[in-house]
Amino acid sequence: MKQFRVVPDYHMHTPRCNHAVGSICEYAQAAVDAGLLEIGMSDHSPMPNGFDKAWRMDESELDSFLKELEQAQDEFKDRLKIKSALEVDYYPGAEEYITYLSQYYDWDYLMGSVHFIGDWGFDNPDAVSRFESCDLEQTYCDYFKLVEQSASCGLFDSIGHPDLIKKFGYRVLGKSERVEAAEYAMLEAVKAADVALEISSAGLRKPVKEIYPHPRIVAQAAALDIPFAFGSDAHSPAEVGHAMSDCLALLHHYGITSVATFNKRQRSPMSFVKG
Ligand SMILES: [Zn+2]
Ligand SMILES: [Zn+2]
Repeated sequence: MKQFRVVPDYHMHTPRCNHAVGSICEYAQAAVDAGLLEIGMSDHSPMPNGFDKAWRMDESELDSFLKELEQAQDEFKDRLKIKSALEVDYYPGAEEYITYLSQYYDWDYLMGSVHFIGDWGFDNPDAVSRFESCDLEQTYCDYFKLVEQSASCGLFDSIGHPDLIKKFGYRVLGKSERVEAAEYAMLEAVKAADVALEISSAGLRKPVKEIYPHPRIVAQAAALDIPFAFGSDAHSPAEVGHAMSDCLALLHHYGITSVATFNKRQRSPMSFVKG
């Protein structure tokens, strides 16, 4: 981090989602040890009607999540800001429940993420074989359409890992005007809704070995003056702040000099360039 100032890491989980380890205080201590000044706990939100229930907290766990969060905020108050958040799944029809969640607590931000195309949890390693038989170009277009809708619904402050569809490295070979048009339509919706995009280091730890989103998307977002917020998507304390400087370097390469910060659903820019 020689070149850049440290920025908030706005994406991390707790064991309530059934696929993460570490208490909130352990994430906070890891952040302090890594020199961070601010994090956001953004565990997988409850969703209605048993949707993907093995991979998220139950609604009955929201209160214990918030209690643990408030205790950690208090314990670390002189060393670290800990923001309250959720990573909320978006799918068409979830808007009413997301509105309910948004009113449940005085959140600092809500991050909307698309992990499902219809009934296909495409980022689930158990369902990866579907990439072998699907029409990849159509799948990418379907994915970006859902991300576009997640922005347009107006219920989120940021959009998580905006090209997660590439996670396992299945890509449309060569230039696809259809996919690029779908990406751009997504970005126009993000711009129109005035939400931030996440720049995420998690892809570096996945088969694709690449930051989310692709540099082409970062370049176009920069041209549209869309703000970015950094997230590691940590599922263990050791991942807090992972590859922050690589993500900031990618933003900086395209002329971006600040990231988004969130407080009670108000967004402010924070410069990450020294001097
Ligand atoms: Zn996610
Ligand atoms: Zn996540």
